[in-house]
Amino acid sequence: MNLEERFLGCLIGLAVGDALGGPIEEIPGKPKPTAKRPLTEMIGGGPFNLKPGEYTDDASMALALAKTIITCKGYHPIHVAREYAKWERTLPSATGRTIQESMRRIRAGIPWDKASDNPYGNNYAGTGAAMRCAPIALLNHSRPEKLIEHTRKDAIITHRHPDCISSSIFINTFIAALLRADDPLIAKNYALRHINDNPALQKRYETLEHAGKPTKGVYDIVENSVHTLLTTTTFEEALTKSVNLAGDADTRGAVTGAIAGAHYGEKAIPLRWKQALVDHLGTPAYERIKRLAHDLYRTANT
Ligand SMILES: [Mg+2]
Repeated sequence: MNLEERFLGCLIGLAVGDALGGPIEEIPGKPKPTAKRPLTEMIGGGPFNLKPGEYTDDASMALALAKTIITCKGYHPIHVAREYAKWERTLPSATGRTIQESMRRIRAGIPWDKASDNPYGNNYAGTGAAMRCAPIALLNHSRPEKLIEHTRKDAIITHRHPDCISSSIFINTFIAALLRADDPLIAKNYALRHINDNPALQKRYETLEHAGKPTKGVYDIVENSVHTLLTTTTFEEALTKSVNLAGDADTRGAVTGAIAGAHYGEKAIPLRWKQALVDHLGTPAYERIKRLAHDLYRTANT
């Protein structure tokens, strides 16, 4: 399989995972979604009353990041933060409060590297940085130092909690290893080496001892996504298993979709899922995301 096939798989997989999980996303304080499990089709509905195949904030923020990287021919946090602030205004469904607060501060003129220096950004190990970071792994798949520098800067725009920064670095170094066709277990060990400045988290991601049930925050997303890839044999099996753990199903689906897509490639993603993809206006999105991934491939490899 060639590298471009893995690029497409990563970005399209992210959107497919978000859209599959969206209808069963559980939100604290809201009634639990009632969709029949296991969920294997793009059914729509759920807490945000989604259209079948509609992706949510996770994929739309990742796509905004990919678009900015292509336009700027690289990662520039000032432009990215500005684009995120614009993106958040157009979002039909709510994103996390940590992102909301940083976006509010960016629009108020606070610089990108200070916006998340607030009680939410400092104290919550939320999922908002990890859910969107994959395009930076694609851009820098062959430049590990840049990959880490850009991933760190991107997390800091909204989530400066050390576990959020380390989790994004873990995911992106994992994706970079999968893009060069490393075995997932070797990719995991490679990724672990890049978070040795955070020993407690490194140990948690090494053992994955909490995987197999929904837990909380960014830990759930990383542990369960990696564990799922290691314990299944196809893209469809990985994504179905991950999403049906429920809890934060859309975000876990997005991250599982990105890593499984990088591993198995675009052709392994079921056509019925790809063709179902729509944005919040109901516009078919598969071809557009495919073009974006293709353009990102050219940006990263020229
Ligand atoms: Mg979401």
